[in-house]
Amino acid sequence: MNGIDINKERLELALEAAGLDLWENDLIAGDVTRKATKIFAELGYNEEETACYIDDMFAIIHPDDIPEIKTAINDHLTGVTAQYRCEFRIRTKPGEWIWYANYGKIMDRGNHNRGQRFIGVTFNINDRKSKEDELARINRKLAEQNALLEQMNVMLQSLATSDSLTGLANRRKLMEVGASEVQRAIRLGHPLSLLIVDIDLFKRVNDAWGHINGDTVICAVADACVQCVRSNVDIVGRIGGEEFAIILPQADYAIANGLAERLRQAVAALQIPIDDTAILSCTISIGIATLTPSCTSFRHLLINADKALYLAKEDGRNCVRGK
Ligand code: GH3
Ligand code: MG
Ligand code: MG
Repeated sequence: MNGIDINKERLELALEAAGLDLWENDLIAGDVTRKATKIFAELGYNEEETACYIDDMFAIIHPDDIPEIKTAINDHLTGVTAQYRCEFRIRTKPGEWIWYANYGKIMDRGNHNRGQRFIGVTFNINDRKSKEDELARINRKLAEQNALLEQMNVMLQSLATSDSLTGLANRRKLMEVGASEVQRAIRLGHPLSLLIVDIDLFKRVNDAWGHINGDTVICAVADACVQCVRSNVDIVGRIGGEEFAIILPQADYAIANGLAERLRQAVAALQIPIDDTAILSCTISIGIATLTPSCTSFRHLLINADKALYLAKEDGRNCVRGK
């Protein structure tokens, strides 16, 4: 056996071990000097079919992949790329698509006397592609689940900070916002007031009309509070059964008193339909507290507003008191 045959044997062994199918084209003569044949057996084609498709590879290549192959070949032939590389799907005899890769190179580039040979290998990359697809599917699923988690977090956040009956800020949220608004007002030297609103003789509403109808009255008063305040400035919250608090940033006592009086009148004028059979009305009492040099915390404001509310109740209800 001569040196050339030994080298050929070695090359064939290496190609087989690596699962590579070698092809070679003579670009000057336009001939295919070695055809990749192994892959056809792998794809389930018999000799006759192999002979047919070997000269018409594009007939069994996925149509979506053809433009990419043509560009890759052209880029290499015109010297844009140092190697020819591309990935594409080939149809098996039963009709399944299997991923393959091509890697090739023009040899003797520039040596026109010897002719230009375009040599390359084709090899199966279906396992890698399946893993990539699986990974992409898992990543998509993860992204979907993350989006869902984010939505749930937003919902949880809103559930944790809002009152389920009225949708207003709950006590916890109000305390949080109150503390930070007081800090801000002190820092900027702005006034700030707090109203505590309590429905008068509400127990009687419950006793006479039942708890569910009582809830309707609570919601009607909550709506009236929201209607009367400055939107995007004041913060309305439900701090107890039939009790609300309204934080009024940048409002001194006179502004707070004016707003409280308008709210008191608006609630007194409410006509609340109950059960489609009756119309209820109710009144509220309001206590006002304002930030002063001797009242510099939200807790202190709450205590003062409660005291003022107590005075309003003592003075016969349906009125506004404060100091
Ligand atoms: P006052 O004018 O002194 O405030 O009298 P009041 O009857 O309103 O005061 P009181 O605090 O004695 O009654 C409040 C009632 O509110 C008692 C309670 O049963 C009722 N209540 C508390 N939470 C809810 C609720 O979520 N829904 C309903 N319908 N009633 C509630
Ligand atoms: Mg009450
Ligand atoms: Mg009360």
